[in-house]
Amino acid sequence: MKIHNTLTNKLETFKPIHKDTVNIYVCGPTVYNYIQIGNARPVIFFDVVRRFFEYLGYTVNFVSNFTDIDDKIITKAIEDQKTELEVAEKFIKAFYEDVERVGSSTKYLAPRVTEYMSSIISYIEKLVDRDYAYVVDGDVYFRVSKVEDYGILSGRNINDLTSGARIEINKNKENPLDFTLWKKTDKGIKYPSPWGEGRPGWHTECVAMIEDIFGGKIDIHGGGADLMFPHHENEIAQNHALHNHKIANYWMHNGFLNIDNKKMSKSDGNYILVKDLDYDYMGFRLFTLSTYYRSPINYTDELLTSYVNEWEKLKRTYTQAFYKLDLADYLDEKVQAYEPLKKIEDNFIEAMSNDFNTANAITELQNLVKYTNQKTRQKDALNELLAAVKLFTTFFEILGLDPRVSRMSKATRSIYMEWADARKNKNFEKADRLRETLSEKGIL
Ligand SMILES: [Zn+2]
Repeated sequence: MKIHNTLTNKLETFKPIHKDTVNIYVCGPTVYNYIQIGNARPVIFFDVVRRFFEYLGYTVNFVSNFTDIDDKIITKAIEDQKTELEVAEKFIKAFYEDVERVGSSTKYLAPRVTEYMSSIISYIEKLVDRDYAYVVDGDVYFRVSKVEDYGILSGRNINDLTSGARIEINKNKENPLDFTLWKKTDKGIKYPSPWGEGRPGWHTECVAMIEDIFGGKIDIHGGGADLMFPHHENEIAQNHALHNHKIANYWMHNGFLNIDNKKMSKSDGNYILVKDLDYDYMGFRLFTLSTYYRSPINYTDELLTSYVNEWEKLKRTYTQAFYKLDLADYLDEKVQAYEPLKKIEDNFIEAMSNDFNTANAITELQNLVKYTNQKTRQKDALNELLAAVKLFTTFFEILGLDPRVSRMSKATRSIYMEWADARKNKNFEKADRLRETLSEKGIL
């Protein structure tokens, strides 16, 4: 397994910290709104990362947080005359619905800031004790100048960053790059701390959770490319202050999903919410996975439509093959390996093992479609067809594509028999009518 590590900017062979286990942490959403289709890209991609590691036989501990305390949540709560907790609950529920819509698993550990407050506070206390953080009038800031290799992930250096930083009107900071660990607040929900009432800064929640859940060291840290700086850089800096080991051995960042060549933006009205997407979500999943995760995707309605149609074709091929085997009572037979399929399988796994290149893997899925269509048309190819259906199942499981096909019910089977009889007896009117029903079910 090879992974492109953002930290080194190299393709590296994956070596887990603990044998047969992969510990992954992916930064989750701030829950004050419904998610856009751009936010669905990491939701889909890292779900595939988990699925593929599981396919390879690893136990995967997948963690992705909820930021349920934040300025935006407070603003939303005031706007809607609700509590912050109510706002967060509503959008956590909505987030899980969207995750399910796009075919990703919701069964992973999802820590929330409100549940980790004491861990976050004690993490900040340690940083203050070691002089990596300083307190000014109830606020706590991280002292960036104390970390020698600050900028290591995003490839920036501290001098360039300092001169390029916007001059902030914050006299409390020693250095404009210093970031907030704890913020004194007088608006919205407040928590008690050794520095007075307030709430934690965003950058500490992920490191405190990784500390608590994984002992401060994970295999893979993931997120969107926009999180690389400053969020992930600041995670590295804080971990560096407390430990002499890396927080994550591999950093993975997915590229953006733009709309009509423009960055998705709420203020420009240039965005589409996942829940409002008026297409088959499996087609959308196929669309996002058809580009290598590090490359940007440019969304257009035409492009998505073409992938939705592609998904329909894929599904039809699979469904027809599946039902042909079902009608022949062949689904439980033992399958023999076939050379052409072996090649497709090997190429698929090789593509996935090469930094999760789902784009190349999907090319193999399309080769499987061609092969299967041929075998469906042949008379005596049930064994080849069964091998193809099994391979389809494997590919679908890895990519999280679900054709939602199950064995034919007794009722459907009898419609099929009736259709076959009508055809044999040249009762074309009846046969046509039944054919339509069966075609709607994807059987013919
Ligand atoms: Zn994070």
